[in-house]
Amino acid sequence: MPQIAANLLAVERRISAALRGATREVTLVAVSKQRSAEDIRAVVGAGCRDIGESYVQEALPKIAALAGVDIRWHYIGHLQTNKARDVAGHFAWVHGVDRARVAMALDRARPEALAPLDVCVQVNISAEATKGGVAPDEALQLCREVSALPRLRLRGLMGMAEPTTDGALQRAQFARLRTVFDQARAAGLALDTLSMGMSDDFEAAIAEGSTMVRIGTAIFGARQGKEAA
Ligand SMILES: *Cc1c(COP(=O)(O)O)cnc(C)c1O
Repeated sequence: MPQIAANLLAVERRISAALRGATREVTLVAVSKQRSAEDIRAVVGAGCRDIGESYVQEALPKIAALAGVDIRWHYIGHLQTNKARDVAGHFAWVHGVDRARVAMALDRARPEALAPLDVCVQVNISAEATKGGVAPDEALQLCREVSALPRLRLRGLMGMAEPTTDGALQRAQFARLRTVFDQARAAGLALDTLSMGMSDDFEAAIAEGSTMVRIGTAIFGARQGKEAA
């Protein structure tokens, strides 16, 4: 079996094990930044059609090269309003909405011919200054603003734990996002997606209720250098 397919299978097995018999679905988004269109074709061929990219300029040529392949593209990077048109025109999901201004720009730019854009509000659960996201106590307000925009469909929340091998710390940070998620649902927002968990912490995220994990390295191998999230 080719390496990418073997890695994908191993990750899928770890997701099933982390669910410990729970019956909810966990959607696996394969994160393909720094990877070629051919690598993406391989992972789609192995059965994963949710693909995540972090940089608009890097993603657009791959999206063009793979036109006609059945892929749901997820934009998981930091988003600036001047990129809203490219993102709203080419992606099905955006995970990093953390300002009303960005949400409004996406809403205006979403083409009428496409279904409303699926959106997750990003919440800063690690309190690292370098990470994007609204503070947990501001998330509900932003969710309300996003849900009022007709060309966006608020699906849920996204968050990242700080890089640590301390499983208890990972879980504590993911639990914070889960708490905000439960509060938003209790307040009447129809959220169904908790986007949390990456290669080094997805098992902790699933233990805390994740419904969508974004995994790059464990599927495609290590990336060159370090990029900002
Ligand atoms: C790069 C990235 C990922 C995937 O990270 P890995 O550690 O390679 O699994 C997930 N989410 C976001 C927002 C990213 O930028």
